[in-house]
Amino acid sequence: MSIAQNLTNILEQIQQLSQEAQRPEGAVSLLAVSKTKPISAIEEAIRAGQKAFGENYVQEGVEKVQHFANVQDLEWHFIGLLQSNKTRLVAEHFHWVQTLDRVKIAQRLNEQRPLSKGKLNVLIQINISDEASKSGISPTDMLPFAREIQQFPNLKLRGLMAIPKPESTPEAQKIALAQMQQLFLQLQEQFEGIDTLSMGMSDDMPTAIACGSTMVRIGTAIFGARS
Ligand SMILES: *Cc1c(COP(=O)(O)O)cnc(C)c1O
Repeated sequence: MSIAQNLTNILEQIQQLSQEAQRPEGAVSLLAVSKTKPISAIEEAIRAGQKAFGENYVQEGVEKVQHFANVQDLEWHFIGLLQSNKTRLVAEHFHWVQTLDRVKIAQRLNEQRPLSKGKLNVLIQINISDEASKSGISPTDMLPFAREIQQFPNLKLRGLMAIPKPESTPEAQKIALAQMQQLFLQLQEQFEGIDTLSMGMSDDMPTAIACGSTMVRIGTAIFGARS
């Protein structure tokens, strides 16, 4: 199947699942995760109408952003682990950082964001399954962390992101995803402009949409398996 066909299929699934979950039209957007995939694959997705792309590796991501610099309205999301010596490249080239979990990183991104680019959109990553190996802050730290982030004038806090531990049934998936929904509501009550809950990958997309996800992140089902 072609990338264009895969995109059509996933967008149809998202629409169907959104209807079933009684979510408003357009409430759930698709982030195409293009890490490790070549320029030609992204080109094909762009030709099929996809605008938002997620990248995990700084150097690779920046090369892609630069390659497509003259395509209008593309949106590049950094969704990988961000080390402090790489923040400048991310601040200078990406539109979003979804994996914010340290004040020090936020501070650097804030300082390094070029004023001409406007604010950098950020999501706080929550370690919702409380895995020692995973990035993200613990749910109890969310509000104090968000307060610190709010003070950086060149960052715009838009919401939350999570990568829950894989579970094999919707019931098991729902535990973490419903917790994320609660945290998101809490954040919305306390802060202005919170509109993005990034959760749901290929295996848990239906449950994530039922639990209020506003952005699903899909790679393999669009671009094929990574080598
Ligand atoms: C790789 C990745 C995805 C997409 O994973 P697939 O299994 O290829 O759909 C989504 N989110 C994050 C944070 C990723 O690193």
